[in-house]
Amino acid sequence: MKRILITGAAGFLGSHLCDRFIAEGYHVIGMDNLITGDLKNIEHLFKLDRFEFYHHDVTKFVHVPGELDYILHFASPASPIDYLKIPIQTLKVGSLGTHNLLGLARVKGARILIASTSEIYGDPLVHPQTEEYYGNVNTIGPRGVYDEAKRFQESITMAYHTFHNVETRIVRIFNTYGPRMRLNDGRVIPAFIGQALRGEDLTVFGDGSQTRSFCYVDDQVEGIYRLLLSDYHLPINIGNPDEISILDFAREIIKLTKSDQEIIFKDLPINDPLQRCPDITKAQTILGWQPKVGRSEGMMKTFEYFQKFSDTELLKEEH
Ligand code: NAD
Ligand code: UDP
Repeated sequence: MKRILITGAAGFLGSHLCDRFIAEGYHVIGMDNLITGDLKNIEHLFKLDRFEFYHHDVTKFVHVPGELDYILHFASPASPIDYLKIPIQTLKVGSLGTHNLLGLARVKGARILIASTSEIYGDPLVHPQTEEYYGNVNTIGPRGVYDEAKRFQESITMAYHTFHNVETRIVRIFNTYGPRMRLNDGRVIPAFIGQALRGEDLTVFGDGSQTRSFCYVDDQVEGIYRLLLSDYHLPINIGNPDEISILDFAREIIKLTKSDQEIIFKDLPINDPLQRCPDITKAQTILGWQPKVGRSEGMMKTFEYFQKFSDTELLKEEH
């Protein structure tokens, strides 16, 4: 039986990846320090013999007994409000944490896939973003702690590939959404859905002309799965190229949730990228992957997930 270590296992993407690899018959070892994650996301797996969980901070030395075939390094705060609150931990998990996991991959002879991000393109001057684009990041801006940690993560991963012959994979994930996001994590989808469910106005930052392209979690997991099993070691974009402005997206949410909320405008956060859309030619040609779940279907599933929250939980999540 193949054994896989998944860091960030109690988080949004990590927990869905645990489910996927359990379903594929793997022995899954989850690791998380729960700084932004929640054990509720994986509690259904605790009864399985094929699942183990380590409560551990990956910036400290990582030890896992036994053999390992694969490592997925997904531990890192991912939402702007999270990494602005814990900037040093964000830099450390992308740098020291990645170093520890690459070292573990080397001693175990395991293949490692690291979760990079569209944020490495910063506020992009090339549109849509191809993997060849070097990016436009403000190193000392508030988002720099995340963007530069992820850029360093890619560099050290390539260095381990080149100098230590470690089998590495790099996925550049574009905005992904779905069940198990935290209602209060500040990202636009849980923010808007939470506001609609609580009967509050929707907060659009700036004039809402900035764009994003949202990928449903099942599509993202499929892309990551194919990349891990492929023989392609260079970075690859996984995301849904269906781009929309944040203002139009707010209007869509109002329609979807059949709420009669107003849209209110707040200041655009510093260095908030003005446009973002993946060029997925490489994922299509190399992995035979493309997204299948459209925004209306994916948003409906996500909305139904959040609708199950009780009124008390919804109010508790207010920020
Ligand atoms: P998340 O916050 O839900 O999950 C991250 C998990 O990592 C949490 O469970 C957290 O407790 C854990 N973690 C953080 N620091 C840790 C540490 N030092 N040691 C152990 N565990 C630690 O976020 P997510 O959306 O699931 O993102 C997962 C990964 O995917 C991140 O690396 C993120 O950068 C990347 N990513 C996500 C998106 C997206 O749209 N969701 C986009 C680009 C990249
Ligand atoms: N955003 C917004 N209102 C909110 C939360 C976010 O208008 O309540 C905007 C944010 O400024 C950004 C976009 O939505 O332009 C996506 O933000 P998110 O935090 O989800 O992801 P990221 O900026 O990392 O792509």
